[in-house]
Amino acid sequence: MNFKDLAKKYNTPLYIYDLNHFSNQYNNLKNAFKGRKSIIAYAVKANSNLSVIKHFASLGSGADCVSIGEVKRALLAGVDKYKIIFSGVGKRDDEIKEAIEKDILMINVESEAELAIIHNIAKNMGKTARISIRVNPNIDPKTHPYISTGLHENKFGVDIETAKKMYIFAKKSEFLNPVGIHFHIGSQLTELEPIKEASAIVADLVRSLKAINVDIKFFDVGGGLGIRYKDEELIEPYDYAQAILSTLSGLDVTIICEPGRFLVGNGGYFLTKVLYEKINGDKRFVIVDGAMNDLIRPSLYDAYHKIEILTSVQNPKISKANIVGPVCESGDFFAKNIDVPETKAGDLVVIYSAGAYGFTMSSNYNTRPRAAEVAIENGKDRLIRRRETFEDLIECEIDYMV
Ligand SMILES: *Cc1c(COP(=O)(O)O)cnc(C)c1O
Repeated sequence: MNFKDLAKKYNTPLYIYDLNHFSNQYNNLKNAFKGRKSIIAYAVKANSNLSVIKHFASLGSGADCVSIGEVKRALLAGVDKYKIIFSGVGKRDDEIKEAIEKDILMINVESEAELAIIHNIAKNMGKTARISIRVNPNIDPKTHPYISTGLHENKFGVDIETAKKMYIFAKKSEFLNPVGIHFHIGSQLTELEPIKEASAIVADLVRSLKAINVDIKFFDVGGGLGIRYKDEELIEPYDYAQAILSTLSGLDVTIICEPGRFLVGNGGYFLTKVLYEKINGDKRFVIVDGAMNDLIRPSLYDAYHKIEILTSVQNPKISKANIVGPVCESGDFFAKNIDVPETKAGDLVVIYSAGAYGFTMSSNYNTRPRAAEVAIENGKDRLIRRRETFEDLIECEIDYMV
């Protein structure tokens, strides 16, 4: 990939997505479930650019959405409505109503209160809502606590006993159709055992539901497959599929998985330029034009991203430095105390593995227009989101004029 040409053509800060990499990841996972009914439902929140969703839709992907906005994105991008799932721990009434109207595959329910509300809304509409229930299997996924979701101490899902009660309620209601079951224990998972344990617990629940005539058709194992940012041990898609399948003997279900990071993380790059350097005492800072508002993972999770400095200095000296942005926060950094060659203004800095939870978590903090996004496919580049302008940023503010 010629980062210099791309930076010249589109300027920085800039996101670049390798769609061929996205396809490979999708196909690897899909093939791992070969011979079984399966749906890969791309977790739209990882990277929700319409062109990215459309790319996955063209491969046959479904979509896992956590707001009605994401459901609308998925529909607009051409995802089959019967492959769209609406998850999330808090849904507004209008979101539930719209999801039922749009006739998507199912709404993932995360509490008894939510189930009662969906029942009432569907009843008022004279419709039947397809639902699944998110079970919290109380499994420690052994990942970063901020991205762990499958423990009772996390806010997600309901315990097994509550889930059973909810299925019985749904089974009795003519306005609810309990077609699925769901769990999602966390993100950036690098160990198979917790997934297998969770899957076994939930599969047992499916068996006991069958005994009371609740027939679960969709077994949704969530997302969370990890990627390599640095030197992580990875779960192979084949082993992942085998681990899940080994818990499903005797069950005729369609397996749904909802990967986000796995599909897009390593195919994304964030390009930023050196503005200048400064030294405070014995600390060296390389200040770049991208910032935490563009890519917040280092600030938020202390996440590691591989960084490459394309310096134009001949035979540069190398010393420790922090790579920081212009935002007025000490937490505004991409890396701390890494080896950095001498740089000149305009030199490019490439931040790897920025395809997931990069642009989608970006903001306009400090009135900074968000970066442009470019897709690369079969060696050709194209703009898929133009750089924001100052006018875009103030568009919704209306009172100051009067
Ligand atoms: C965030 C999320 C995902 C995707 O997680 P990744 O770690 O990006 O694979 C899938 N399902 C649900 C319910 C989620 O909240």
